[in-house]
Amino acid sequence: MPAVEPGNVLMPEACLVINVDTDPDPASVPQDDGSLLAKYRRMREILEAAGAPGAWCVLTGPICRTRFLEEPFVSFWRDLRSTGHSLVLHAEEDLYGPPPDKQGTACSYLNAPHMQTVIREAVGRMGAQGLAFDAWRGGYHGFTPQIGHMIRAAGIGIELSCGPGIEWPEKAAAWQRAPLSAYAMLPDDPQTPVPPDTACALLEIPFAWDGTGPRLSRPFVIGDSYMINEFSTLEANCRVWDAIVARAAGTRERHIVSMITHTFAMGQADIENRLIDTLAHVGRSGRFIDIRAVTA
Ligand SMILES: [Zn+2]
Repeated sequence: MPAVEPGNVLMPEACLVINVDTDPDPASVPQDDGSLLAKYRRMREILEAAGAPGAWCVLTGPICRTRFLEEPFVSFWRDLRSTGHSLVLHAEEDLYGPPPDKQGTACSYLNAPHMQTVIREAVGRMGAQGLAFDAWRGGYHGFTPQIGHMIRAAGIGIELSCGPGIEWPEKAAAWQRAPLSAYAMLPDDPQTPVPPDTACALLEIPFAWDGTGPRLSRPFVIGDSYMINEFSTLEANCRVWDAIVARAAGTRERHIVSMITHTFAMGQADIENRLIDTLAHVGRSGRFIDIRAVTA
């Protein structure tokens, strides 16, 4: 740490993780590999122009169990990961589903044997191609203690599902009292911070939340009290970010949070510009961080 001279008070940092959801959309109309990759490349171009590494979600789900774990996508993931971006295992079991072993109407994240197979096979398939996942993110903020233990056992130490303020039992999402900045936690008690050097701890990086609402853009999809590029506005994205910066200054503590952006909207000028302008706004008062460089 540099010595702090009188009158030269260091401002606490505000750091942003860019969580890139690469799911094709709509779920019922899978797009061809070439058009998906074109969108991925455009997203990469925007992020790199802003100096922002991405945490890129790699989808697995019942209708695309291995599609994104094979070529031509693996080469793209490999190139990303070797140039400062990170990879996130992202299992959407009900949106791109339901899985054939679905039990009743309960969220599939609660089906531990099913999730064990999903996680083990995805990690194994990527590992056989020389690639590792750096993090996990469940759809609709879903996370369970069992999933936490499974990803830990599979070598994944970072969790990105936390949406502070959210409690959706239908989606296995329970973050109503979660901390507002990155923290270490144990899978059995994911909302309670523990010392970062705790054995078997996961690093949790929560979504940026302005502390209001929480307001949603549609059922089970966060809205303008979080940073979600495709389902909010530039003004709201900037307002939420400014709240994070103010919180860091007010508490005199570094804050590390995430925003989410989806590749499906690449090619739509207004949404591309919203992302570009949001990143420019963030860059003026904070910095972007790769999840592998985050410490609690
Ligand atoms: Zn998704």
